[in-house]
Amino acid sequence: SDTRVTHGAPQAEDPDAALRPRTLSDFTGQAKAKDNLSVFVQAAKQRGEAMDHVLFHGPPGLGKTTLAQIVANELGVGFRQTSGPVISKAGDLAALLTNLERHDVLFIDEIHRLTPAVEEILYPAMEDYALDILIGEGPSARSVKIDLPRFTLIGATTRSGLLTKPLLDRFGIPLRLDFYTEEDLMRIVTRGAGKLGAPISEDGAREIARRSRGTPRVAGRLLRRVRDVAAVEGDGTITAEVADRALRRLDVDELGLETLDRRYLTRIAEDFGGGPVGVETIAASLAEARDAVEDVIEPFLLQQGLIQRTPRGRMLTDKAYRHIGLAVPSRAGD
Ligand code: ADP
Repeated sequence: SDTRVTHGAPQAEDPDAALRPRTLSDFTGQAKAKDNLSVFVQAAKQRGEAMDHVLFHGPPGLGKTTLAQIVANELGVGFRQTSGPVISKAGDLAALLTNLERHDVLFIDEIHRLTPAVEEILYPAMEDYALDILIGEGPSARSVKIDLPRFTLIGATTRSGLLTKPLLDRFGIPLRLDFYTEEDLMRIVTRGAGKLGAPISEDGAREIARRSRGTPRVAGRLLRRVRDVAAVEGDGTITAEVADRALRRLDVDELGLETLDRRYLTRIAEDFGGGPVGVETIAASLAEARDAVEDVIEPFLLQQGLIQRTPRGRMLTDKAYRHIGLAVPSRAGD
């Protein structure tokens, strides 16, 4: 299959490119999503049709882009990639769609960030493989319908709740990606080290896996830093001891929290009495974008039981107080 990349070439600069799995069987973890995809890929191939549209949702770095590329690869079709914020005008999307070839995969990352005008173009494209374009202005304007080849749209978003209902409804195959288990991440780290030509002990792989926030992208990043330390300060072998030393230096703690995660927890404890506090307020006090707080920081803290989401805002749990080394406050009603 050929990979044509639209709108810049993120993969070309992607330091993970060499580590990316290329087939479903190479892809570790996400058993449910993989099982589903393999059935739909096979069915589409048997019928000789384009696969139905897929929506991946889940925190960044869990493999949404990778799976989209794998699907195109397994289908034996072309892959085109763009992202919501890059498509500013309806015409940009129309140009992309008219350049697709039969059964191609079009991947739109951050699809929740499409403008309403662009989304309008997408509806008939997804449903009827057609573009409705308005040509001219004023009284002489007329609507022209252009047929598109059958294609598969794969959308990715951090939370499916960010999509408008009509867009969400047009995806036949919604799939949620979850944080990876330590075992899966160990496999990914071990395999990655192999590809980098870095010897690694089982304990070394476990140490990196344990501190990777359940996220392959983080695991890849930490692996490269640890490998550097192993090469410069040791004999090149990644052991648990080398991994621990390198990760401490990067301020990655035993749970995998980094400076910003700990600042998030400390702020809520010290400035907001442990909560509940609204996400907007927390974001402002950290000088971070609300999206980054909700998409990058919070999902893992929630999964780890360090915070709770309540109707009135976020609250720290006792585990969070203990983790940041503060006394657990006695709360009214306890
Ligand atoms: P997302 O699109 O969800 O943000 P990506 O698909 O870009 O995530 O994945 C981030 C990086 O993590 C990729 O470059 C890839 O190398 C790695 N990765 C993701 N999932 C896996 C996996 N299951 N096995 C091995 N590596 C993975």
